[in-house]
Amino acid sequence: MKRTDYITWDEYFMGIALLSAQRSKDSNTQVGACIVNCENKILSLGYNGMPIGCNDDDMPWERSGNPVDTKYMYVCHAELNAILNRSSGSLDGAKLYVTLFPCNECAKAIIQSGIREIVYLSDKYCGNDDNIASKKMFDIVGVKYRQYETTGRKLEIEL
Ligand SMILES: [Zn+2]
Repeated sequence: MKRTDYITWDEYFMGIALLSAQRSKDSNTQVGACIVNCENKILSLGYNGMPIGCNDDDMPWERSGNPVDTKYMYVCHAELNAILNRSSGSLDGAKLYVTLFPCNECAKAIIQSGIREIVYLSDKYCGNDDNIASKKMFDIVGVKYRQYETTGRKLEIEL
């Protein structure tokens, strides 16, 4: 008899995005991303973090103050990292699972990379200018987006 309580593709990929987010050093915002192709094969993963070679301990993680001394100038978002991290192959027609709706800067990179569908978990900045701009661009170019429907399934992983 086949096992019936296996996780769905959506749970699998959003679960991996959530796990990836746990790698983030940002104490306020942890975002994870997982890019898959039309065959449900994982192409790339990412989470928000400082650029390669910028020591996490030397970089600012502040959210306010002199802009140059805030994290915003430096942190690479999860989606951008996932787009840039892929080791081979094209992202044309790919699907992005991400734990937070993409900002406008990531939206541009998503569109340019060829990703055609987004499954997001939280949209907590819905209505903010950058969020509106993201949706405007996605709507114009026909990138589909839908909110992940939480199933309530809880998984425990001992690490
Ligand atoms: Zn972004």
